[in-house]
Order: sequence, then structure tokens, then C-alpha cells
Amino acid sequence: MGQQHQHGRKVVDHRPQPERRDRLIQEKEHDPYKPSLKPADPGVCTICHAVYEEGRWHWGARPAAASDTVCQACQRIRDHIPAGILTMDGAFVRTHRAELLAQVRHQETLESSEHPLNRIMDIRDTSDGMTVTTTDLHLPRRVAEALRSHHHGEVTWQYDDDDYFLRVHWQAD
Ligand SMILES: [Zn+2]
Repeated sequence: MGQQHQHGRKVVDHRPQPERRDRLIQEKEHDPYKPSLKPADPGVCTICHAVYEEGRWHWGARPAAASDTVCQACQRIRDHIPAGILTMDGAFVRTHRAELLAQVRHQETLESSEHPLNRIMDIRDTSDGMTVTTTDLHLPRRVAEALRSHHHGEVTWQYDDDDYFLRVHWQAD
């Protein structure tokens, strides 16, 4: 778990049911990354071809009047600035790497089919398991909860309010 700072940027509490942070994430539906590049509506991302229309991103045909833009997910990928990270630790992670990777990718497919800007950026092996970085705040929790429901273990998470950044940790049994 993180450190406690009374006056620092991060204030981490250790309550078992973090409703307040849940609410914060719900309220931050719109990624503030590079707000100056707010897309034209309708617009189409020139990199991933996601469509921005009536204020939201979806997959679909290019609208007739669409302008070219670059979505925040593609900007984050290009700039190497993730919004979330999932750390998976434990001997189980090392011995079940392929199976876990397939589950991680499956959850990404489900999430990004509905939310085009929620994607995996990078997957890396670590000395104690794996890390997955994402373009959004939702995917790390979704993956971690899916892993817990399949394999048990423990999920903890910490939201960094100032930086729009979420760290999720899954400790395998
Ligand atoms: Zn894009």
C-alpha cells in the first residue's frame, strides 16, 4: 500500500470499501489528457479510427461530416503516458503466464468494444509477475476483478486524484 501524506499530493486511505474513490472515478468519465486537443464533433481518429459523435467515442462508420482527429488513447500510447497500471504479483503469475495473458486480453476486448478509448498500452514481465499499463482508469480494475473471480487472491487499488492515475495490484494466492 502507498504512503500516507498529510499535506502531499497523494492521500491514501486504507478503508476496505473505497466508495469515495469509486465516485471520483465515475465523475471523471472524460479523460483530461491534453484537453486542448478536444476532438471535433463528429470526428474520426486517424490512428485507431474510433468515431467521436454526439460527445462520445464509439466504433462505427465514419460520419459524413467528420473531421480528422487523434483520440486520447492514441495520444497516450504515442506519448507513453498511461492512465492506469495493474501489477500482478505472486508465484502463480509466473507459472500461469500464458493463461493470465489470455484473460487480460479477453477483458480488454470486452471493455474496448464498448469503450474505444479503454485499452492496454503495454504488458511487461517483472521479477515477481507482470504489469499491464492502460489508457484509462477502468480497465485495470476490470482485469483485476476478473482475475480475482477466477483465481482468488487479493485486489487493492489507489487512485491519484491530481494526476488522473490509478494503480491496481492483484496479489495471487
Ligand atoms: Zn485513436
